[in-house]
Amino acid sequence: MGKQLNVALIGNPNTGKTSVFNALTGLNQKVGNYPGVTVDKKQGVCKLSRGVKANILDLPGTYSLNASSLDENVVIELLLNKNDKDYPDVALIISDVETLKRNLLLFTQIKDLKIPTILVINMSDLMRRKGIALDIELLEEKLHTKIALVSTRKNNGMEGLKQLIENYKTISIEPCLDTTIIDEDYFKSLQKAFPNQDIYKLWLVITQDANFGKISRQELDISRFKTKSNQELKHLQQKEAIKRYQFINGVLNKAQTIDRSKATGLRSKLDRLLIHKVWGYVIFFLILLGIFQAVYDWATLPMDIIDSSFASLAEWVKVSFPGGGKVTDLIAEGIISGIGGVVIFIPQIAFLFLFISILEESGYMSRVVFLMDRVMRRFGLSGKSVVPLISGTACAIPAVMATRNIENWKERLITILVVPFTTCAARLPVYLIIIALVIPDNSVMGLSYQALTLMGLYLIGFGMAIFSAYILDRILKTKHKTFFVVEMPNYKLPLIKNVLITVIEKTKTFVLEAGKIILAISIVLWVMASYGPGDKFNNAESYVNKNSTFQSNYELNDQIAAFKLEHSYIGIVGKTIEPLIRPLGYDWKVGIGLVASFAAREVFVGTLATIYSVGSASEDEETIKTRMENETYEDGTKVFTLASGISLLLFYAFAMQCMSTLAIVRRETKSWKWPILQLTGMTAIAYICALIAFQTLK
Ligand code: GDP
Ligand code: MG
Repeated sequence: MGKQLNVALIGNPNTGKTSVFNALTGLNQKVGNYPGVTVDKKQGVCKLSRGVKANILDLPGTYSLNASSLDENVVIELLLNKNDKDYPDVALIISDVETLKRNLLLFTQIKDLKIPTILVINMSDLMRRKGIALDIELLEEKLHTKIALVSTRKNNGMEGLKQLIENYKTISIEPCLDTTIIDEDYFKSLQKAFPNQDIYKLWLVITQDANFGKISRQELDISRFKTKSNQELKHLQQKEAIKRYQFINGVLNKAQTIDRSKATGLRSKLDRLLIHKVWGYVIFFLILLGIFQAVYDWATLPMDIIDSSFASLAEWVKVSFPGGGKVTDLIAEGIISGIGGVVIFIPQIAFLFLFISILEESGYMSRVVFLMDRVMRRFGLSGKSVVPLISGTACAIPAVMATRNIENWKERLITILVVPFTTCAARLPVYLIIIALVIPDNSVMGLSYQALTLMGLYLIGFGMAIFSAYILDRILKTKHKTFFVVEMPNYKLPLIKNVLITVIEKTKTFVLEAGKIILAISIVLWVMASYGPGDKFNNAESYVNKNSTFQSNYELNDQIAAFKLEHSYIGIVGKTIEPLIRPLGYDWKVGIGLVASFAAREVFVGTLATIYSVGSASEDEETIKTRMENETYEDGTKVFTLASGISLLLFYAFAMQCMSTLAIVRRETKSWKWPILQLTGMTAIAYICALIAFQTLK
């Protein structure tokens, strides 16, 4: 049993903390070239030599220890609490070579807390190109620390870093600054009041208390020591930053040289174009078009293959186990159809994730955040809401968590409330199948209508999010607006490995998470569809026989199956809600899909697949799509038309159908009020929009 030691990774956003974490632990946490990707602590283990094990803790990015937002607060809470089980034995401050000055602010603060601190300067691979030279020895001497110059991308310097971690005890804990110069009298009296406490820690507790309101810390009751107003404290914090920068500038003047001529003009040229007031938006729009077009073009073939394989698999099960009875039916009709309904969308989902991940990795996503920020301001929102809204394209859950870096509570609340309007991955399968059914497979100027519709749905989602935020902003009246500085990371060639990891991880999570729910729900549904109360279900044959005389055997069986479904338990549920959804253009079978997908949207397709296979006696290999296409009302009109299709798309775009999101919103807002408001509000909007769409289009 070796010793354990705690290592915390701390630094500004986007300096490569997570990349260092992955390099040390061999884990694959999500890396992204825009701020706000890591919002919670993540843990992993790194094996050092001689049986020493290090617990590595990846933390959210933070600019200083004077936190003003929840995600930054995670870092300070940890550093102020020696009793925390994760309290670091050694802190690694991760900086990148280009933002050394800004990161040193944080570095000197942590150093002054007398925590053994190693300075990790990452992205050393960029030094030559950027014309940056560093005198590492001099830096080490002036900052009283050990420095590891590394590049996680080129895998350089990691062994040296591990050795430094191992020998952390030899690192000096001498502070960089004499903090009492901030306000000598005040600090002196502070120290007198708490003679056993570290003076800088006291100061941080006080400033944190000023920012977050009462925090109870038994050992440190600072409430009896409040002689300065919050205004004065803020002023002193500014003074602290100035003093620190004076120190840092002095150090860097000697130890760092930057050859400006080498700092290429490419970045500024690109930026001039990509965040241009007009061209910026045009280019963004074109990129979106290209992405959605490609998602359709590239995914068609693999999807067709998956679709027909699942149909043959179900058929094979039925034929190979004839007379297998209920269990065979359950597998063929319930499970295989249900799972197939999700698996078929893997290609499109994976391609979409691929593009999003490339946009993130290249640094372009930060420009999008900047572009959106301009739009958001018009609607009275702050730009900090943009990151959650954009990350909501994967899933609303991490997006709701990403709101933690919004300082103002009301702004944060509004963002949480509107984030689920963003088109998440779970809506994709529903969109894709409905689009395939009702939007013609033609194209205009090389752009397919189907791709355009999908893109339109994404834009509608964003539009509705912004619009409702605007309304909520009016109702809740937020006065103070969070000041937002968009971090503009450098453009980078996306690392194929990072991109692929993201794609695989996200697709896997989607399929597994969705798969679990779908499996469970398809079994329940199949049971409810295969049994029913009363005479009509149990003696369906005689009812159908009575009414029809001249049908072929095959048609007869089909009719019996349909009649049974109608009078099964699930049929009764569908029939009950039919009056409510008929005005939107849906029949009772679609209604069953709607009911089932209030747990999670993605089960919609699987549900319909299960229902339609139970409801038909057909022996042919049929794909889900053809089954849905052939679905008709009693009078022979088709169920899935342009009108009912658009209506369904809108319903799914706006309705709040995700238990997990509601649970997260409850957790983040600590109240049931907001998730309930979200559920009813969004669903009402969805209903009204779907109603209007169907009634005007039919
Ligand atoms: P975090 O926000 O601090 O966790 O930073 P991430 O680990 O998410 O990385 C931010 C960005 O920097 C990503 O796009 C990485 O691919 C990139 N990056 C990380 N390490 C290096 C490096 O050594 N060299 C270069 N050129 N880029 C890097
Ligand atoms: Mg990170």
